[in-house]
Amino acid sequence: MPTDPIFALLPEPIQIGIGALPNMILFDFGRYIIAATLIAAIVWAAKRTGWAYRQIQDRVASSADYRREFFASLRSCAIFVFMGIFVVAGDQVGIFYDIRGSYGWAIDLGLFAAILVGHDAYFYWTHRMMHHPKLFKTFHRFHHRSVTPTPFAAYAFDVPEALVMFAFLPIWLLFVPTPVTVISAFLGLMIIRNAMGHAGLELHARWWLKTPLTRWISTTTHHDLHHSGSFKHNYGFYFTWWDKLMGTEHPEYAAEFAKSVAKPDAEQASETGELAPAR
Ligand SMILES: [Zn+2]
Ligand SMILES: [Zn+2]
Repeated sequence: MPTDPIFALLPEPIQIGIGALPNMILFDFGRYIIAATLIAAIVWAAKRTGWAYRQIQDRVASSADYRREFFASLRSCAIFVFMGIFVVAGDQVGIFYDIRGSYGWAIDLGLFAAILVGHDAYFYWTHRMMHHPKLFKTFHRFHHRSVTPTPFAAYAFDVPEALVMFAFLPIWLLFVPTPVTVISAFLGLMIIRNAMGHAGLELHARWWLKTPLTRWISTTTHHDLHHSGSFKHNYGFYFTWWDKLMGTEHPEYAAEFAKSVAKPDAEQASETGELAPAR
């Protein structure tokens, strides 16, 4: 802990929050960099193997897109870390339920499912609100500078949107006692799904929308359609049910997903001696 005299003047909970900085920096920057790089590497490999046809748009992201998305995401990570100081301080003064320990694997698993459902609802409604003409420019326009998103767009938010995204966790912890292991697992899955949603290449199985087992879980095409033109559709994050319930699912979603996963016509390829053109 620093022994600086100014540091000593700070309230003790804030001092403890600052003491947690190294772990929060590792966790917040680390999970973004690992998840975005991992998904980008999978997309890179997929494009060079049999999955090139799964690229969703004809347009490819420019290096300026990659740079903007990456540096804006790092800024969001810095905001999450800074705000994390206050969450740790709030925990110290007891405004949240105790997050230590475990309730046993069954209840912990139930809480994990609950936080995903809760975050999905929060994301749908805040996202939809940020598309309101009065809020869009301040909160959400920056994220939509990515017309052809890459996995690095996961946290490419302007400062106000990063704060809205951050706010879910402290609000949740005010109401639901959630063990820190469950919170960490949730944040880990969230960034992986986020990077997958911006992958630009459909990563989900061909049968994804054909079975009730998986079709309620969103796909890369689902969020890609939101970026590539229709700001009035596909606001959801993990699940498709809010968009279905509120009538905001893109009318062409199923057809576009089918196109994303349709293999180029093998017969045509053998007749012409070349692969069918990529969409
Ligand atoms: Zn949007
Ligand atoms: Zn997005």
